[in-house]
Amino acid sequence: MSNATTSAPPQVGDFELNPELAAFRKTCRDFAERELRPNAAAWDKAAKFPADAVKKAAALGLLRITTPRAYGGTELGNVASCVMLEELNRCCPSTGVTVSVHNSLVCSPLAKWGTEDQKRRYFPKLVDGSWLGAYCLSEAGSGSDAAALVCAAKDVGDAFVLDGPKLWITTGSEAGLYVVFARTGEDRVKGISAFLVERSWPGVGVGKKERKLGIRASPTVEITLSNVRVPKQNLLGELGRGFNIALDTLDGGRLGIASQSLGLAAAGLDLIRAHLQSQVDAKGRNVSTQAHQWEMADIAADLDACRFLTWRAAVLRDRGLPCGPQAAMAKLKASLLANRAARSAVAILGHSGLCGDAERLLRDARITEIYEGATDIQRLVIARGEIG
Ligand SMILES: Cc1cc2nc3c(=O)[nH]c(=O)nc-3n(C[C@H](O)[C@H](O)[C@H](O)COP(=O)(O)OP(=O)(O)OC[C@H]3O[C@@H](n4cnc5c(N)ncnc54)[C@H](O)[C@@H]3O)c2cc1C
Repeated sequence: MSNATTSAPPQVGDFELNPELAAFRKTCRDFAERELRPNAAAWDKAAKFPADAVKKAAALGLLRITTPRAYGGTELGNVASCVMLEELNRCCPSTGVTVSVHNSLVCSPLAKWGTEDQKRRYFPKLVDGSWLGAYCLSEAGSGSDAAALVCAAKDVGDAFVLDGPKLWITTGSEAGLYVVFARTGEDRVKGISAFLVERSWPGVGVGKKERKLGIRASPTVEITLSNVRVPKQNLLGELGRGFNIALDTLDGGRLGIASQSLGLAAAGLDLIRAHLQSQVDAKGRNVSTQAHQWEMADIAADLDACRFLTWRAAVLRDRGLPCGPQAAMAKLKASLLANRAARSAVAILGHSGLCGDAERLLRDARITEIYEGATDIQRLVIARGEIG
């Protein structure tokens, strides 16, 4: 006999993962627990890029999740990507952001705007991880205001010549392929185009590596472009459409950072739960304070809420529907939660919160409120969606 309380067909979708996705989540969790958790603290301390772990992630198919099957991908899509990234980031956000950038900021725009020739040339190297991808939008004078970028792309007939540095590029020192945004015209928005630039080309260099507060095992570097000759067949999408490509790509990227935030919030919840469970008296009765239990309860409830916000935006994107405000809501709320959970873990664990996993969590969580659109920029996107 059915336990259903209504015979009406499903009206808002199912809140559980289907069996395939649940199995995929387990695969990702097992991988993260086995390969990432035992090493994350050492990688952080040495600011060492987890190259071997990323290779193993590639072998597991985690670098081909947003790539179409026709080009060697698994095409599992954005919901699966969110599920995967929560698991990876729960154990190591440096590995998590590497995988997120590769899939959402490089493979996704290549799949969406790339020519057949570009896909045939680059996907084979990207899906097996022999090349990692990096996304080069930011510059010294253009972060939140991306349209202020000045990196020049001069038309010289059969090629564009790119000139000008890109800053704060995640995985920049490890990548084989860059998606670069540069100026092909004077119009603030329509004067921006996107290019596929190979690391090995003359004039492409890796500059200063940033010394960061958190995600220290994820290299953030300057990419220098000095008279780099980019053949015209490496223009990504149409000339002058680069800004739209950048923003649409960031909608997908924000799902990745929202999922990273979910993983970090879950890690904070894990630390708090374990600590409160350990607080027992001589008779084994739990003596944790109600204040701490309520903080844990709020984080647990908000984590579920943020996960559903994130999955909702991912479902929209998988259906090919606009998801800008929804992705911004997910990133806004999940990143704030990641930071709250990290602060609470440090506070509740007392002196032991100031060292070890809680201390690293506090440092790692901070970036989620900055990259792929700072917190205020998410509010801006949501407000524009509301006002129209
Ligand atoms: C670790 C790390 C990795 C990164 N990886 C990459 C990468 O791979 N590729 C890439 O291209 N970039 C990358 N970035 C750059 C990142 O996207 C920018 O730092 C981010 O967009 C913010 O820009 P900004 O740092 O110039 O800050 P600003 O734009 O100067 O913003 C500073 C503050 O002002 C607020 N603010 C700005 N404009 C407004 C506004 N209009 N209304 C209200 N508030 C506003 C912001 O919310 C923020 O709090 C990375 C950054 C970091 C820290």
